[in-house]
Amino acid sequence: MEYKAFLIKYGEIGVKGKNRFRFEDALVTQMHYALDPVGDFKIRKESGRIFAEALGEYDFEEATAALSCVFGISGICPIVVGEDNDLDSITEILLDYMAERYHDLHFTFKVMVRRADKSFPMTSMELAAFLGEKLLERFGDLKVDVHDPDVYVTVEVRDKIYIYTEELPGPGGMPIGTNGKAMLLLSGGIDSPVAGYMISKRGVRLEATYFHAPPYTSERAKQKVVDLARLISKYTGPIHLHIVNFTDIQMAIYEKCPHDELTIIMRRYMMKIAEYFAKENDCLGLVTGESIGQVASQTMQSLYCTDAAATLPVFRPCIGMDKNDIIHLAEKIGTFETSILPYEDCCTIFVAKHPVTKPRLDVIERSEKKLKDCIDDLLKTAIETEEVIFIKACD
Ligand code: ATP
Ligand code: MG
Repeated sequence: MEYKAFLIKYGEIGVKGKNRFRFEDALVTQMHYALDPVGDFKIRKESGRIFAEALGEYDFEEATAALSCVFGISGICPIVVGEDNDLDSITEILLDYMAERYHDLHFTFKVMVRRADKSFPMTSMELAAFLGEKLLERFGDLKVDVHDPDVYVTVEVRDKIYIYTEELPGPGGMPIGTNGKAMLLLSGGIDSPVAGYMISKRGVRLEATYFHAPPYTSERAKQKVVDLARLISKYTGPIHLHIVNFTDIQMAIYEKCPHDELTIIMRRYMMKIAEYFAKENDCLGLVTGESIGQVASQTMQSLYCTDAAATLPVFRPCIGMDKNDIIHLAEKIGTFETSILPYEDCCTIFVAKHPVTKPRLDVIERSEKKLKDCIDDLLKTAIETEEVIFIKACD
């Protein structure tokens, strides 16, 4: 079966008036982003529908895989398109389609008609009944079931004819760009790419910041984070990845602060730097992959101390998830295999044997005073020497 086009269904709850146009426009933009690497598609909005029509050759599996990464899409219907919308043409296209699509026409069905072209000489009900009759005449094993059919045969009469019987599930969520932008703290681990995916599923565009500590962390570790950013950008759209050299800050913390507080203090400076880039780039929040109790730096007390370092809201979509649930999602979105590559992370290199699990903010802030002679310069240098990489899924 060769499909020339897709009809895209999208969640419409709460999407009314002006918001609806924003929602649809963002969806179209993101569909272009997803389909451009697959082939040449014309995407257009038409009275509550979005159509993607192939203008040339394309791979069906690739196209549906690409569309299934576009947040906001609830269903992907592969459709056949008929150029003429007269009764004979509609009937012929429908019968040909059914014969080609289904080898065994032994099921119950219901014809559904939508008429955008109101000049068509039959009502929707009349046309549905007419086409149902034709199907029964041609295919003897078909039966009508108007309440719970195996197959809904949908026929839309517009300037052209659109026929479909299948709806592949979309990812749901809201189109990227409909809910502002946030800064993801992206490490090479399992959790932060999943956190980025979850936030962007709600329509939030992402930037990302990665802290590395050369020569303690390698080029390969950095490349792994670039790869992870590319993997999630399939869903999130293009990402500006800010890469920050964190070595000198880490060394200073290591030399001057109590070792059991290293991770918390490090994490607080990460927040401050990520927040700087966030504000510079119109992000309205920070996103991390933290989950309560996962490690010492993610107890309620630790999260309290980390939070206090930022003025922007910190979003932690994995906060209530078990590691196994996060892993399942990482597998589903395709980041797991890359996340478990065994390259060193800057946090693990300077980690204390017995980190505090119940840090107190006043104690941590007192420890940070030991950095007062050097930290401003170090932060300034770290910010000024950032490297920015622009990442797109198809690169
Ligand atoms: P992940 O799988 O996301 O690395 P993790 O369990 O290893 O999570 P931590 O290392 O404690 O957790 O980090 C907690 C969060 O802090 C991460 O999810 C990420 O958002 C942020 N983070 C940690 N290390 C870095 C880093 N090197 N660069 C950027 N963000 C980081
Ligand atoms: Mg980590």
